[in-house]
Amino acid sequence: MSTEPSTLQRISLREAEITPGFTVRRALPTRERRMVGPWCFLDHIGPVELAGDQAGMHVDEHPHTCLQTFTWMIEGEVMHRDSLRSEQIIRPGQVNLMTAGHGVTHTEDSLDSSRRLHGVQLWIALPEAQADMPPAFHHYPELPRWQEEGCELTLLAGQHARRQAPTLMHSPAIALDIHAPAGAELKLPLSAEFEHGVLPLTGQVRIDSKAQAFTPKEFAWLAPGPQIVTLHLAADTRLILVGGTPWQQNVIMWWNFVGHSREAVKQAQTDWEAGSPRFGTVPHARRRLAAPKLPW
Ligand code: MN
Repeated sequence: MSTEPSTLQRISLREAEITPGFTVRRALPTRERRMVGPWCFLDHIGPVELAGDQAGMHVDEHPHTCLQTFTWMIEGEVMHRDSLRSEQIIRPGQVNLMTAGHGVTHTEDSLDSSRRLHGVQLWIALPEAQADMPPAFHHYPELPRWQEEGCELTLLAGQHARRQAPTLMHSPAIALDIHAPAGAELKLPLSAEFEHGVLPLTGQVRIDSKAQAFTPKEFAWLAPGPQIVTLHLAADTRLILVGGTPWQQNVIMWWNFVGHSREAVKQAQTDWEAGSPRFGTVPHARRRLAAPKLPW
């Protein structure tokens, strides 16, 4: 039984401006790797201290298709509003999951009372069979949470060690939040069929016997195969681990759209530009974001 991943890839995060003046660090997609299982987008937001009149994170009304947005805050609170009339404050310790399916639109605004923001937003691609499902929004205030080897673990999605997260998934996938306040060495059993990604949000982690640590500037990709991975976590390290069955279907990502063909993405963009009822509207939204011109 192999206990070492046969392949471990080191991927540098890149900066991305999600709204003017507000920059995040993006782990997926990058040139080196587009997806980890169904996870097709991974933005690390902050940690950022909002000083004086700095506005925070305000993302105006924009559409999504064929994906789920998955938001997990470590610090700070964000108001989510969508075309299903959902209005939900996203708080640390809770998963918020919006399933776009055929089409949805939403806004995201950090609360003025939140002067520190730290979190992640991920997208999960929907399989072809669910691409056009009706949109939905789910808020999960309670998640499996436990202590192990000096670490605090929270299961955000999928199954782990006989635990099951309530989060609605459409493909085999896992997401775990691991925090080691005083540092720890954690042996983590993994599904051999899954590929995995490890993103430190604070601190640093060494994986198995590899000498070089990963910091929040880097994302570690682990090939399918290893059954147990050993994480050497420095004091006050927090990371998220995501995984899933390597994706076999065609996936096109353009702006805020995911689709299984260019035609599907082009149709979504045409419908958004035409103000089609497909996406609905967010009550009291300030303005709709315009899609950039399609590259093809
Ligand atoms: Mn969005």
